[in-house]
Amino acid sequence: MATQTTQVKQIYTSGVKPVWCPGCGDYGVQVAILKAITELSLDKSSTLLVSGIGCSSAMPHVFSTYGIHSIHGRVLPVATGAKFANDDLTVIGTTGDGDAYGIGVAHLIHAARRNIDITYIVMNNQIYGLTTGQASPTSLVGAKTKSTPFGDIEEPVNPIALAISSGATFVARGFSGDPAHLAELIKQGIVHKGFALIDVFSPCVTFNTLNTYDWFRQRIYKLDATHDASNLASAFDKATEAERSNWAKIPIGIFYNIDKPTYSELDVALKKGSTIKQPQHTKEQVQELIDENK
Ligand code: SF4
Ligand code: MG
Repeated sequence: MATQTTQVKQIYTSGVKPVWCPGCGDYGVQVAILKAITELSLDKSSTLLVSGIGCSSAMPHVFSTYGIHSIHGRVLPVATGAKFANDDLTVIGTTGDGDAYGIGVAHLIHAARRNIDITYIVMNNQIYGLTTGQASPTSLVGAKTKSTPFGDIEEPVNPIALAISSGATFVARGFSGDPAHLAELIKQGIVHKGFALIDVFSPCVTFNTLNTYDWFRQRIYKLDATHDASNLASAFDKATEAERSNWAKIPIGIFYNIDKPTYSELDVALKKGSTIKQPQHTKEQVQELIDENK
């Protein structure tokens, strides 16, 4: 996490109205992000939101921080580049399950194992909403969607277990129907030094008729102090509880939270400071390097 300030009142909203359907879970995530960055008093000129493609990827538009609405599945490469270029930035990825766990899933694995100091908020509605309701990587077996009219036959990706096994050092899950709880997770994810995944159940009220707010409210429970988030075995146990209980019990909260050096702390070049803090080469020096390597 980077710069905070308490001296200037920060106005974090841009005035751009989200284009989401009434009742979309992404509104709850918007509220939670706003609450989290307000309570952390982040300097908005040092805060960057990066999104991909999908309904939830409109998120950077509604904030007055810096924002990049990037391309499908490439939130993490863009966020990684920004963080390496300027380590003072608080970099937050905001995207959906199709983007993060489908086309972009390889980037999740590699950003996690590198422990890059960014926070990745994935609005998981278990469907492709923007393209009007096809099965996504997290759709449940049996889910009837436009692309699976007889019920989905594929096992869903488990983002919590995937992130933990890939080396993420902070892994949490929230629910957009409880923005106050989610805001706490986002705050802790931002403050955490290293890669933080926050998967958020964020219902698509238009196209997902299975995983509704009520469906979640009947099943979710909050992890409490009895769960040791520093213990890998306990983290995996909780990460797989929803699947093992056939989605009867779905834990939310912090599954895993450990301290490890970040990529930037270990890398020979980045240890000297992020790119903007290192001396710039002159044109002549650049030409010399090119000539040497011809
Ligand atoms: Fe939200 Fe679904 Fe509407 Fe997209 S289609 S804005 S995910 S409710
Ligand atoms: Mg989706």
